[in-house]
Amino acid sequence: LTENKQQPATKVSDFPRIGEVREKKQGLHYASVQLGAVAELRQYGVRHPAIGKTIQGKVFLKELLGLTGMEISFGVLPAYTSVAFLHKHRQNEEVYLFLQGQGQIQIDGDTLDVAEGTAVRVAPEGVRCWQSTSAEDLFYIVIQAKEGSLTTWTGSDGVPVSGAAVWPT
Ligand code: ZN
Repeated sequence: LTENKQQPATKVSDFPRIGEVREKKQGLHYASVQLGAVAELRQYGVRHPAIGKTIQGKVFLKELLGLTGMEISFGVLPAYTSVAFLHKHRQNEEVYLFLQGQGQIQIDGDTLDVAEGTAVRVAPEGVRCWQSTSAEDLFYIVIQAKEGSLTTWTGSDGVPVSGAAVWPT
């Protein structure tokens, strides 16, 4: 008997993006985008088919950068607002990196205060929501990657290369 728990319920993986990304660069071994200042991130958004809503202030990077082992998004939540829905994941753990503002994240009913410098890891099954609790926009990054997939990291994955960088003058 083959279990097929990994099969997603829908084929929708990339949400349609709202907002034009002006500055993209690509090379053999890199891709880069410049999305503008934090305050300007509100111009971006995604259409979320599963909930039939538009989410403003969210930019996913997988498609823009061609990511293959993780999804990353920039998010900005306006002052005193909450994400309008709860969600969890099928396979991916998520890390929320809060970089500006103040707020709270709730996981399975536990509420944690978050602010600049807070990092929170949520397991796939964790039912989560977050909100901004100050007059400042809450700016954060979310990284999602398959739980248990990391086999080498930092010292076991990074390899020194001889030579020195030559910077343009
Ligand atoms: Zn998520």
